[in-house]
Amino acid sequence: MILIQGKGVSKGVAKGPLYFFQRPDTTVVKQVVSDLEAEKARLAAAQAASMEQLSALAEKCREEAGDETAILFETHAMFVEDEDFVECMMDIMEGESCNAEYAVEQAGQQFAEMFAAMDDAYMQARSADIKDVARRILDNLMGVVAGGIDSDVPVILAADDLAPSETLQLDKSKILAFATQGGSGNSHTAILARTMGIPAICGAGDALKEAYSGREAYIDGETGALYLEPDDVTLGVLIEKKRKQDEMKALLETMKGKEDVTLDGRKMMLYCNIGSPEDVTSVIDNDGQGIGLFRSEFLYLAASDYPSEEEQFQAYKKVAAAMNGKRVVIRTLDIGADKQVDYFDMKKEENPAMGVRAIRICLNRPEVFRTQLRALYRASAYGKVAIMFPMITSVWEVKECKRACAKVMAELEAEGIPFNKDTEIGIMIETPSSVFVSDQLAKEVDFFSVGTNDLTQYTLACDRQANDLGKFFDPHHPAVLRALKMATDNAHKAGIWIGICGELGADISLLPTFLAIGIDELSVSPTSVLPLRAELRKSIAKTCTLEKLELN
Ligand code: PEP
Ligand code: MG
Repeated sequence: MILIQGKGVSKGVAKGPLYFFQRPDTTVVKQVVSDLEAEKARLAAAQAASMEQLSALAEKCREEAGDETAILFETHAMFVEDEDFVECMMDIMEGESCNAEYAVEQAGQQFAEMFAAMDDAYMQARSADIKDVARRILDNLMGVVAGGIDSDVPVILAADDLAPSETLQLDKSKILAFATQGGSGNSHTAILARTMGIPAICGAGDALKEAYSGREAYIDGETGALYLEPDDVTLGVLIEKKRKQDEMKALLETMKGKEDVTLDGRKMMLYCNIGSPEDVTSVIDNDGQGIGLFRSEFLYLAASDYPSEEEQFQAYKKVAAAMNGKRVVIRTLDIGADKQVDYFDMKKEENPAMGVRAIRICLNRPEVFRTQLRALYRASAYGKVAIMFPMITSVWEVKECKRACAKVMAELEAEGIPFNKDTEIGIMIETPSSVFVSDQLAKEVDFFSVGTNDLTQYTLACDRQANDLGKFFDPHHPAVLRALKMATDNAHKAGIWIGICGELGADISLLPTFLAIGIDELSVSPTSVLPLRAELRKSIAKTCTLEKLELN
């Protein structure tokens, strides 16, 4: 048996022949050119061709792999036209009187190295994207056709590091799994594999040899292992894993259209978290019963200036209408801390997680708040919109938010613009203080949604961004669970519903605890809905206990 150990980045077991991705030769030779203008025109044509291909790929992606991956190609298109990148290519061509190919290759390398040297793991992973973009422009300059799979049977595709666009252009019916020598779990290729539900491992290094091409292999996307000629024991484990996985897939399919209810009749609303209007497709595909958290900040993060009322209205309306009467909770702007937006021109803070963020920005900048509220109320005429305020710590903040809502409603009324005056208003419970005064807050609003990501951060004094806090960042901590219980009791006393929209909501192991606490709603990523539904429908609420709260 040969075991090649990489990092599992997309779960699942697959078996098939190993096939090494054949990339056409694009060796670049530096040439001195006399007609620089002609060379610039060649580059411009290659850029235009790249833009066209990327827009077609984004479209293909939307149909095949969802929006997250489509955005990848839109980002690539931005790189193609990025001012700094283009300037760098031009400078090289002019400075060295050289051919466009050489300038593209050099600029691509410089930018890839720059990204790779950044501290942030996400930004480091963008290095692969810039290489991908440079390779595309080069292919267009050299008239090269992208590589494919020359095999009649489906294969486990191996490569040094598969560029995301290479991944997408491949014939999916021929791919059982991916294995790469390089790459990271943060890379878009890994994201793409996960979205498409194809097992994948990365970082297998030199152990993944081209000489193994054609040999039968097994891949386990959970453990990151790739086996050639597995021994009987390993084979048994892999076969059993695959059987369970197929069974699970089939079971989840049968969950579509079923009610979210326990065996003893306790209902729970299983909703979805989304980050952009395009994510609604995935909500519908996974049979989400509503949207419990629409992070509206995507509109601000993606723009280079404040998004207008009309732009926001169109985005919210699209989601509200697509959900066809199902509840859509839209959270008002939650920037600051890890989500910085240049044009807000925020002062640098020592402790941004505890600084001017989320609702604090909105209350400090009434015009920004008003624009968003007007867009939200206008959208409320097109579906069941609910408005949610993030990072609440005090009752006065909620009162001020409600005053802003009342003012906007009065304006719209006077202007004869339709809106739903009964639009639900809710708040996020994500600070310890909001838990402690949840009895008072519950009297002010229609619902609570617990942001366990921030609630864990602030309750345990653990930075949610830090990678090295390890066991100290523990969302299962009894303090977090007791906070949930306290907020739930106070919500129910006031007759309002309470949900969880932080990552903890998708933690199936805590479902009995959530049932025991009395949580009414869980808002999770779309792909977590059906597994949760399957578990919920097997549960008996009245036998669930509060053991994890360690109250005794
Ligand atoms: C949370 O804090 O749990 C939450 C859902 O909000 P975000 O992750 O966007 O801060
Ligand atoms: Mg939060």
